[in-house]
Amino acid sequence: MNLAHLLQRRALQHPQRHAIFSGTQCVASHGEWASRAARVGAHLHAAGLAPGDRVVLFMRNHPRYLELMFGAWWAGLVVVPVNAKLHIKEVQWIVDNSAARWAFVTSDVAPDPAALTGLDGVMDAESAACTAWLEDGAGLPAIEERAPTDTAWLFYTSGTTGRPKGVMITHRNLITMGLTYFNDVDPIAAGDAIAYAAPMSHGAGIYAIPHLMAGARHVVPASGGFDAAELFALGRQLGPLSLFAAPTIVKRIVDEAEAAGLSPAQCGQSFKTIVYGGAPMYAADIQRALRVMGPRFVQIYGQGESPMVGTALGRAHLADASHPRHAERLASVGVAQTPVRIRVAGPDGEPLPAGEVGEVLIQGDSVMAGYWRNPEATAAALRDGWLWTGDMGALDADGFLTLKDRSKDLIISGGSNIYPREVEEVLLTAPGVAEAAVVGAPDPEWGEIVVAFVVPLPGAALDSKVLDAFCLDHIARFKRPKRYEIVDALPKNNYGKVLKTVLRERL
Ligand code: AMP
Repeated sequence: MNLAHLLQRRALQHPQRHAIFSGTQCVASHGEWASRAARVGAHLHAAGLAPGDRVVLFMRNHPRYLELMFGAWWAGLVVVPVNAKLHIKEVQWIVDNSAARWAFVTSDVAPDPAALTGLDGVMDAESAACTAWLEDGAGLPAIEERAPTDTAWLFYTSGTTGRPKGVMITHRNLITMGLTYFNDVDPIAAGDAIAYAAPMSHGAGIYAIPHLMAGARHVVPASGGFDAAELFALGRQLGPLSLFAAPTIVKRIVDEAEAAGLSPAQCGQSFKTIVYGGAPMYAADIQRALRVMGPRFVQIYGQGESPMVGTALGRAHLADASHPRHAERLASVGVAQTPVRIRVAGPDGEPLPAGEVGEVLIQGDSVMAGYWRNPEATAAALRDGWLWTGDMGALDADGFLTLKDRSKDLIISGGSNIYPREVEEVLLTAPGVAEAAVVGAPDPEWGEIVVAFVVPLPGAALDSKVLDAFCLDHIARFKRPKRYEIVDALPKNNYGKVLKTVLRERL
């Protein structure tokens, strides 16, 4: 099974149905999408690429992203979607590491395509040459056969430290992910629409698959990026949108709803479902989001190594305010998604009792085949049939997983383990605090001390004494920050994750 078969089926059944939108304008029906993909596949073959070869996509979010990605799959190739905000030298590193043969770029992110070397071809996705590839009248080739274990997507980890690794995501992984969406995230109807508000090189783009399975519409905002007001307007025009976004983006959508004075029902005209994940969503933030926008949120936890599939915290659990453990559940990442098992294990891989913190392991058909040409890293991450995620967490007796922190973010002060997330959750409920990130700083006496970087809400003045008193009121004394740094903003990577390494360097 090749993912391109999903597109072909949609095209055969409903060729005229609207598929891809640029803003409010339909730019491809399912039939056009499939025939363009087939032609791209034929041209890539003619250019000498053979099944299994890698094709880099270094593009801003663009309607052609979908046509080119499925074109590569049609020809049995492997796509390497690259974050559009990377430096050209970082992209070159990925081109070399993946031994890619072709790249599609957009000129805004790659103004000088010739700067990328070692490829058989670099094509501007908006060029006349690319249009000719998509539109010419050549006969349509058959879809190249692929085994379920063949790689479809080589995903370079966003890497808050060190060199990224290429995660080999197979056709089976992505089909599993797509089917799981309907059960654990949200049912999709053919009239629904997904909006690409976050980078298509990451989770947002991966969610094209369940939406294609359902024959839904795919909307690339005209700005090609994230603009909350644009999304509200698009949803009103096209019908309620579904989207995936990191918590920082969700926060900005909620800010927009609040600033525009919209009721939850009015928010429902623009948004059907907002799936969030990729970084911690604090309980205070999701409570506010639910209050302002209504029950249109679902959380997922996964990682590139098990794309979008780990746990999910669905609408029903988020809404179940009468449950005695609702507050804990809001701060959790939910329960195992259907095709996987989740285990919290000690260093020997044995499961720990409920409530104990250990490393989160995932097992199932969504788990990657391994890291590209990196057997050592693969052997470290895949052991005895389980993916070792590097995330620390605890399961409760009902199977809800609460993430603590990445093992490297854990603070050990005076011999006690302190999970930054716990301290951050408290700080975020303190008056005047917009954002908080807690890290450890080396200390001769304690080993490490807890330091909080805190961003005030607009117009608020923060005082470390007041924050200290607030923490003393809410958490154990030894966990409270010994030092506060009041800052205008937190350093974040391109996906909105706070870069704790940068904060630690500042200390
Ligand atoms: P990536 O491979 O770039 O998608 O990053 C995956 C990592 O993001 C995971 O290993 C977690 O550390 C973090 N992450 C993903 N989803 C969540 C979530 N819902 N809550 C907290 N952290 C998350």
